[in-house]
Amino acid sequence: MMRYVIVGSGPAGLNAIEAIRELDKDSEILLITAEKYVGYSRPLITYLLGRKVTEEKMYYRTEEFLRDLGVDIKPATRVKKVVPEKKIVVTQDGQEFAYDKLLLAVGGKPFVPKIEGLEGKEGIFTFTTWEDEEKVEKYIKENNIKEAIVLGGGLIGLKTTEALMELGVKVTIVELADRILSVTFDRKASEIIMNALKKVGCDVITNDTIESVKGNDKISSVILKSGKEIPTKLLIIAIGVRPNVDFLKSSGIEINRGIVVNEKMETNVKDIYAAGDCTEFYDLIDGQRKTIAIWPVAVAQGRVAGYNMAGGNVRYPGGIPMNSVELAGIPTISVGHTNVEGEEYEVLTYEDENTYKKMVLKGDRLVGAVLVNDIDRAGIYTGLILQKLDVSSFKDKLLDENFGLVYLPKEFRKKMLEGEVKIWLE
Ligand SMILES: Cc1cc2nc3c(=O)[nH]c(=O)nc-3n(C[C@H](O)[C@H](O)[C@H](O)COP(=O)(O)OP(=O)(O)OC[C@H]3O[C@@H](n4cnc5c(N)ncnc54)[C@H](O)[C@@H]3O)c2cc1C
Repeated sequence: MMRYVIVGSGPAGLNAIEAIRELDKDSEILLITAEKYVGYSRPLITYLLGRKVTEEKMYYRTEEFLRDLGVDIKPATRVKKVVPEKKIVVTQDGQEFAYDKLLLAVGGKPFVPKIEGLEGKEGIFTFTTWEDEEKVEKYIKENNIKEAIVLGGGLIGLKTTEALMELGVKVTIVELADRILSVTFDRKASEIIMNALKKVGCDVITNDTIESVKGNDKISSVILKSGKEIPTKLLIIAIGVRPNVDFLKSSGIEINRGIVVNEKMETNVKDIYAAGDCTEFYDLIDGQRKTIAIWPVAVAQGRVAGYNMAGGNVRYPGGIPMNSVELAGIPTISVGHTNVEGEEYEVLTYEDENTYKKMVLKGDRLVGAVLVNDIDRAGIYTGLILQKLDVSSFKDKLLDENFGLVYLPKEFRKKMLEGEVKIWLE
């Protein structure tokens, strides 16, 4: 009998557990997680704040489901150290747990920059967990918040902005880059979304950041680098997440930006695996090692790790950046490499009053797509990117209004319909 220890109850950890159980019905599985809520959908926390989903809808797996799989769960328990020589993990409250196989699925943690006066004031939050959502909701109610500042115009910042606006809170976004969504979307798509946000009453300040925070017990205003002072009782810091790896520094596990894993999701230390936002692995398009902190990558990596921990032999080929989000009423999708420069790329675009579409090609391959307002064919474009298919014979059709599987040569259609999942199971 084996003892599997899984640290982290996000999609990487939970998918690993389910994969283990497909191959090994009997061994012990211990799930240790820092959060008190287990099996909830992190991307929904902004919708919960904005009252677009109810608490019951937050769970994609329940504790009961996991217990039925024979999983022993330790919620609200943080691992502070991994000791490979003894094959144990040590928790913050001093408990030690032995493992035969260990999975680190510890996700990311919000990055908080050095800002003068930030420490020790109420009204300042990050927003990446259900517990953050509860704190912000309570603070808004108790302090009758009508205005807020969101530092960071990335996806989490904008989703949080939308939620606050649903609650009748007027938001000012402060973004260091010269546009919002600069990492995820291209300039044109950013502009469309920024204009839509402004139309619904959101202020967007670019090329600026917060230098200091004023107030006594509670925040009362922020001072921007440009010198401008904005009064506020609520500040949300949303400038990105970083792999949550600080507690592993003395473990001997190789860490670069994230935990370095091979295609079986093994770390350099025997019997220790890692999956999800805490790892770095190859980008399928350019072969560069990077952290792609999105749900589908965590799911796929978690499954690969779980199978291999239980004696299987499957490989993860690499992921691609992918984001799908509706902002200010505009559905948008960005897949692959969309912010590119250089002669090796060919860019095709289509624009009308309501729609913007962009295809990025490198040689004969599609490597990126941006879709604003018309996102119906996103799955097909994603398939073309993932399968690395030669699109040269139909590239002039890619932006057609009716572009679909029928446009593809027969052998492509078959490959596409076989689906994305097969890629990593082969
Ligand atoms: C507001 C928001 C919106 C998002 N929207 C989208 C979206 O629309 N689409 C998309 O693809 N992705 C989205 N994401 C990203 C997505 O949620 C993550 O990519 C995904 O959750 C990563 O899964 P994971 O299992 O790797 O890590 P996580 O889900 O971050 O889980 C990590 C787990 O590890 C636990 N943990 C951490 N450290 C320790 C420790 N030392 N000891 C014990 N437990 C520990 C944590 O408590 C947590 O349970 C969003 C994220 C946020 C915050």
